[in-house]
Amino acid sequence: DEPRRFHREFIHLNDGDSSPIRVMQWNVLAQALGEGLDSFVQCPMEALSWSRRKYLIFEEILTYRPHILCLQEVDHYYDTFQPVLAGLGYSSNFCPKPQSPCLGLEGNNGPDGCALFFDQSRFELLDSGNLRLSAMRLSTNQVAVVMMLRCRSTARCICVAVTHLKARSGWEWLRSAQGSDLLRHLQNLVQKHCGGPTGVPSSDIPLLICGDFNAVPAEEVYRRFITSPLSLDSAYKKLSQDGLTEPEYTTWKIRPTGECCATLDYIWYSQDMLRVDAVLDMPTEEQIGPNRLPSFSYPSDHLSLVCDFTFKEKK
Ligand code: NDP
Ligand code: CA
Repeated sequence: DEPRRFHREFIHLNDGDSSPIRVMQWNVLAQALGEGLDSFVQCPMEALSWSRRKYLIFEEILTYRPHILCLQEVDHYYDTFQPVLAGLGYSSNFCPKPQSPCLGLEGNNGPDGCALFFDQSRFELLDSGNLRLSAMRLSTNQVAVVMMLRCRSTARCICVAVTHLKARSGWEWLRSAQGSDLLRHLQNLVQKHCGGPTGVPSSDIPLLICGDFNAVPAEEVYRRFITSPLSLDSAYKKLSQDGLTEPEYTTWKIRPTGECCATLDYIWYSQDMLRVDAVLDMPTEEQIGPNRLPSFSYPSDHLSLVCDFTFKEKK
């Protein structure tokens, strides 16, 4: 029996632009972690094999064909993601975690890290950098990839970042510090690229920050993003009836310690300069099934987040 794929619909929020920028955020589950560390007790080992999972991962990406693709837990960049996606017209950068937990696991394929891909027909690369996030001036094991892109059709710039903050409870303070460090870097970057005189308080370059924040919306790092002077909002709130509530889950798994169903993944955007035109809905509990994720139907314990954006008119 061929496993059923999730059928997800785009929720359109307005008339929309004919050529929006499509963005995907996805923690794809590192191969070494999925087989070696995670203990997804309800998921059969065969469903976790790389030979099966890689096809489901590319199927997911090709179903939505994002112009900007932000991935975490990539431990097959050089041998799989980079060459396959380069063949599909994507350019990219990868930043491995300095002390990736993958390295201690049997049969690992090197460190996992964050990867950022963009469609070369849509964007031109102006600048790119890898960041090691700091907390209280000390460097941590978490990273980010940042790119300054220029849209070829509108000539407008956009600054994109992808990150994966520290996991597990007890580390809320560290996630908050890492989030603040990332925001500080991005603020400096958009001001530098603004081209205006130094000391200009704001930039006209919109930000897109995608990540597995490992933080529920009640956490401090979430509040830091919402209250940041960069005027950021979280795109997936648009999926809710009132437009103000995050989805119920972006990850859903069963470990020996129990079930984990939580919203940890976000697409942040500059609400003054970008408009959300459409949001891909989440699969239902019934579609996900009683054994949750990953499964023969879906290759990661995190769901992909996909949104369409357009530039707002300049004031
Ligand atoms: P994190 O705490 O951020 O977590 C690393 C990964 O573990 C994440 O991708 C996370 O996935 C996943 N994870 C989260 N919760 C669980 C769980 N309950 N069970 C299994 N996996 C989980 O790690 P750091 O980046 O801080 O890495 C440090 C860790 O790696 C330390 O434990 C260190 O000892 C180990 N390490 C070991 C090495 C070795 O050679 N033995 C080398 C380097 C590091 P998600 O984000 O999806 O929740
Ligand atoms: Ca994980």
